[in-house]
Amino acid sequence: MHAKIALIEDEPDIRRILRDFLEKNGCTVIEAPDGTAASKLLAAEQFDLILMDLMLPGISGEQLIAALRTHSDTPVIVISAKSMLETRLEVLRLGADDYILKPFDLNEVLVRMEVVLRRAGSPQLPEILRCGGLTMYPAENRVCWQNSPLSLTAKEFQLLLLFMEHPQKVYSKANLYESVWNAEYCYEDNTVSVHVSNLRAKLKKAAGCDLIETVWGIGYRMKGVT
Ligand code: CA
Repeated sequence: MHAKIALIEDEPDIRRILRDFLEKNGCTVIEAPDGTAASKLLAAEQFDLILMDLMLPGISGEQLIAALRTHSDTPVIVISAKSMLETRLEVLRLGADDYILKPFDLNEVLVRMEVVLRRAGSPQLPEILRCGGLTMYPAENRVCWQNSPLSLTAKEFQLLLLFMEHPQKVYSKANLYESVWNAEYCYEDNTVSVHVSNLRAKLKKAAGCDLIETVWGIGYRMKGVT
């Protein structure tokens, strides 16, 4: 799943478990540890989906949903230990799209997210992308060079996905940083170069030649694909 998720949860352990799991499944996750931080985050950025606890320090989950629904229909899934039927109904009435009870099963979270995203009509990824000998299955987080699977990190996968989606496009470091890391690019930062060069090395090892090229002074793109 290629979605940008806001994760609003005050318990660090639960946040970490959800974040690791979602990132492993291809999502970009931005966390807020309390209601006040969440309120700022939701005002500042667009998300494909919001995962939210109800009992939060600062502003409650219920208040966040009510405020969000005055200006946005971003899907919201509540993950809460509050099991009372009235609470669940109230939250759904406020505009949440689904309600998952704690303790939760990670795979259930993922399935419910997929359902809510599909219902919201979020832009779906193509099932298969091909570039020369490379084949990518974005929804399955899988990429192969001539049928041999490649082992990429989540960031390398997201970078390659961008390159393969628009093989003729030259991506600047700032483009790549802002798309894959969802943060503002800072020119002294060499994060993008490091990840692109790791990705290039893996592709080169598999293919025997460079698949990504540097366009001097501009950035990177797929090599020799026209
Ligand atoms: Ca809580």
